[in-house]
Amino acid sequence: MHAVHIHAVLVAAALVVPSASFAWGDEGHQVVASLAYKRLTPKARKAVDALLAKDADKLTAPDFTSRATWADKYRDADRNTTQVHYRATRKWHFVDIELDGGTLDDACDGRKPLPDGVAASQGPANACVVDKLVQFRKELTSPDTSVAEKTLALKFVLHLVGDLHQPLHAANHQDSGGNGVAVEIAPSNRHSNLHAYWDTDLVKKLGTTVPVAAASVAKLITPANAANWSAGGIDDWAAESNADAKKVAYNFSGEKTFVDDHDGEGEVLDATYEARALPVARRALAKASVRLANLLNDAFK
Ligand SMILES: [Zn+2]
Repeated sequence: MHAVHIHAVLVAAALVVPSASFAWGDEGHQVVASLAYKRLTPKARKAVDALLAKDADKLTAPDFTSRATWADKYRDADRNTTQVHYRATRKWHFVDIELDGGTLDDACDGRKPLPDGVAASQGPANACVVDKLVQFRKELTSPDTSVAEKTLALKFVLHLVGDLHQPLHAANHQDSGGNGVAVEIAPSNRHSNLHAYWDTDLVKKLGTTVPVAAASVAKLITPANAANWSAGGIDDWAAESNADAKKVAYNFSGEKTFVDDHDGEGEVLDATYEARALPVARRALAKASVRLANLLNDAFK
């Protein structure tokens, strides 16, 4: 990660990324997918492996865990050129529920249904992650979906379940989902932004490689927790992530602030903040993996 000055963040937020634009880094998505894969039924595993085996797309490696990062690569592939895929799918990665009284309806452009005959992969650019997950799940379940569309649906679902569990993908405080909040990560004095800290830094603290971080997350997946997390639907996942953002990600009480080179003010994230945040990030990754597996087991039963 590069140090990001607050001016650079604000300029970028104003010109290019009016909303949360990143995701759990690749590692977070790979942790979710690798744990979910172990929970697939033999039937579901066979079905997803068969779809992925026929997919020649080169944006990521073809295996289940690598494909969990595909939707970010697809979005970013033309981000600095034509922006066709970027504009069409950028908003599908988050649901910007305002912390102060925001609703899912507002954050999801009125929750318009997908027009008849339109494939979810071609669906409206203004749809939120919650509605895209509902649409792609339906395609995975339906015998009428073409193999090509089912493969796209699978690759989006693999990624978007993870995104919805990143608290700052389900919350906004008029700051592009925390992208506009400059942070200094103590004790390193490294500067970043709040969204990136949750995407990447916290996951790295769970383990510097995917298997190590996954092993740390896996300890939380007890039968009792898995049963709890299996209740409720996709709207509830958004509400839980938003509550975590409010209670933990935006809870700077006891923290210091700092002034950066451009006289912007940011939050110092110290050991107290990390002690609150890390268990929430670990639990979010664990929940995402259980729910991704449930969704696929259900779609391919
Ligand atoms: Zn994403």
